[in-house]
Amino acid sequence: MIPYGKQDISQADIDAVVRVLQSDFLTQGPVVPLFEDALAQYSGAKHAVAVNSATSALHLACLALQVGEGDIVWTTPITFVASANCALYCGAKVDFVDIDSKTYNMSVSALEAKLESASLLGRLPKVVIPVHLCGQSCEMAEIWRLSKMYGFKVIEDASHAVGGRYKDFSIGGGQYSDITIFSFHPVKIITTAEGGVAVTNNEELAVKMQLLRSHGITRDPKLIRATDGPWYYEQIALGFNYRMTELQAALGLSQLSRLDEFVSKRHALAAVYDQSLAALPLELPYQHADCYSAYHLYVVRVKSKRISHEECFLKLRESGVGVNLHYIPVYKQPFYQAMGFPMGYCPEAECYYKEAISLPIYFGLEVSEQRKIISTLLSLLGE
Ligand SMILES: *Cc1c(COP(=O)(O)O)cnc(C)c1O
Repeated sequence: MIPYGKQDISQADIDAVVRVLQSDFLTQGPVVPLFEDALAQYSGAKHAVAVNSATSALHLACLALQVGEGDIVWTTPITFVASANCALYCGAKVDFVDIDSKTYNMSVSALEAKLESASLLGRLPKVVIPVHLCGQSCEMAEIWRLSKMYGFKVIEDASHAVGGRYKDFSIGGGQYSDITIFSFHPVKIITTAEGGVAVTNNEELAVKMQLLRSHGITRDPKLIRATDGPWYYEQIALGFNYRMTELQAALGLSQLSRLDEFVSKRHALAAVYDQSLAALPLELPYQHADCYSAYHLYVVRVKSKRISHEECFLKLRESGVGVNLHYIPVYKQPFYQAMGFPMGYCPEAECYYKEAISLPIYFGLEVSEQRKIISTLLSLLGE
């Protein structure tokens, strides 16, 4: 089966991890800060806080922005459940803004309309979490403008989008948000096996996230009350063990040096799909003029009268093409259904869900494999 996504591990990656294994520190050593600095530099952010997953980074970002009981967080229904769960971890409520019919990202007009009515009801969100689906940025300038109008904070879930750009900026630069989250799960653009990073230009937020990733414990003389001696530390908040290991950071640092190459290859693969599938009854990924996608996913929407979405999906799998569907609208999950979201809550998202298929796209996808994927689609959907 050709998977929909896959990591690419070089000898240099392996050597970097082995060097850490032979060193004094497997965790809390010098490599995590090196990885953080490199990622901050790459994305143009002042601070980077590495943790053990993007899910943890989302949780810490919500806590740093003081999301708690009585608060509401909004995100998109077309995302991985973690983008919504992070608010629930903090005791807040979650709500969903429908997607744009072209980009499949959070719709700015739906957001604006929902803010207007929420404002009248006194139910404005504390934080909005736009997700850069497939690696293409949301329309962040507009979302940022609305955040200033309505007084909410913005966390970009850029789990798909490291290496992507928006307007003149690398994703994560923080021009239009408070905190940006990256994921380094193996299917994403670069990997640390498990791992995530939060980047921000706000030092106070960075310090809070650093504190909370390690039990709320600090030795920083600026933060502690007093000292009893050189052994002394204080727990000043209820934190977690969300630390990234040195092994993960070494892998990430090594992978980061190939990030641009990874993204270029994804663009080349996308261009081949664009050209080869143009005549088929498929809606191909729309690229917004302000965006340079990281192309984590290549999503097509099945618009055929002859073959259903499900049959197309099934036939592709039967032919050895490991397609996937990103995503089931989050509020359709049983856990969220129990919160009372009705069917049809976000019509564009539900329409998307009935048609979307993610085709394989990753650095190591061979020409012959992509040819096979294309010929399978041509035979299934061609006239
Ligand atoms: C993968 C993913 C996450 C979670 O990332 P982990 O590093 O696996 O915790 C969150 N949001 C989105 C949109 C993702 O794709």
